[in-house]
Amino acid sequence: MPLVQLRRPSTASPDSEVALGGALMDRQSRTVRYLRVSLTDRCNYRCTYCMPEEGLVYGPRTDVLSLEEVVRVCEAFARWGVTRVRLTGGEPTLRRGLVSLVERLAALPTVEPARRLEVVMTTNGERLAELAEPLARAGLRSLTVSLDSLDPERFGRITRRGTLERVLGGVEAASRAGLWPLKINTVAISGFNDDELASLVRWAWERDVVPRFIELMPMASGELYVPGELLPAAEIRARVEEGLQTALVPDEGEGVRGAGPASYWRAVGGAFDGRRLGTIAALTENFCSSCNRLRISATGQLHACLARDDTGDLRSALRSQDPDRLERVVRAALGTKRDAHGFNIDGTGGPTKAMVSIGG
Ligand code: SAM
Ligand code: SF4
Repeated sequence: MPLVQLRRPSTASPDSEVALGGALMDRQSRTVRYLRVSLTDRCNYRCTYCMPEEGLVYGPRTDVLSLEEVVRVCEAFARWGVTRVRLTGGEPTLRRGLVSLVERLAALPTVEPARRLEVVMTTNGERLAELAEPLARAGLRSLTVSLDSLDPERFGRITRRGTLERVLGGVEAASRAGLWPLKINTVAISGFNDDELASLVRWAWERDVVPRFIELMPMASGELYVPGELLPAAEIRARVEEGLQTALVPDEGEGVRGAGPASYWRAVGGAFDGRRLGTIAALTENFCSSCNRLRISATGQLHACLARDDTGDLRSALRSQDPDRLERVVRAALGTKRDAHGFNIDGTGGPTKAMVSIGG
């Protein structure tokens, strides 16, 4: 069971008929290469769009996958073709043993000759000042830090518990430690930070950091979502173009799409010519047809899609005596992966779980 439970999800049962072996390909011929692993669904922040302030229900700690189990599951996925693992949460830096976990994961072989598993992480940055250097030494390849405002009062308001100064110090530490490419994730919210979009981009580009804007998603049955607050990606880019006197064109260097859900744009003209910016626009620029991801919650639930409640129980599989059970559960869950998410702009169609409990 997930630790933060708003309603009971549906669970895909393992199918003993499922064929084992080979790459992880779904019914739409999308191949899974990217696994997002939540290390905890606890957090030291309470971002308004991600977590309710109160009323969180946590199960027993034994429900959470042990680090040993996380390594086992990543090792298996690497054997089936996954080349990149993103550690997330909740707040992954709260997980004890994080640095040695990164070291073990980064040493895992993949199906590609001489290529080790690429381990990256998304964090709120609160604990980064002390962790950036050890994480870099352990083999973390790159880092994304969430940053919704450069205004200390606003930052405190959106995160309910965060300190802007600590996060900015964390970004600097990550940059000094060589955690590159360094990215920032900003959830763009109309009426909250829409007047700051260009300044956030300027701040990032001046530090060789890649800014990315995320459209608000209606998680948790839309309970934390206010429809009028959604800022479409096209409008986000238009505001940046206007604020920084530049044009943004699809980035051809690495293709418009990166390895994940973001589409990348390049500045042409102006003081920041050539710099890149990402937008993650689940609602207005659907990217489901190129989805290459699966997600594992801290309690070992496999989510074929962030926006759906379908799950497969990896924890029971890992704790069973049957050596093939894990693979059967994974392939059965992959078989349930839908063509597209069901998010609607009015806040309906999303999963019952909050982002914090699936692992964003
Ligand atoms: N605690 C870490 C952090 O904040 O970076 C990692 C987990 S957090 C769930 C991952 C990302 O999801 C963050 O960048 C956060 O801004 C984003 N996020 C959370 N809830 C969201 C929502 N309802 N819509 C869009 N993005 C959301
Ligand atoms: Fe915590 Fe990240 Fe969610 Fe904010 S977005 S509450 S930091 S998990």
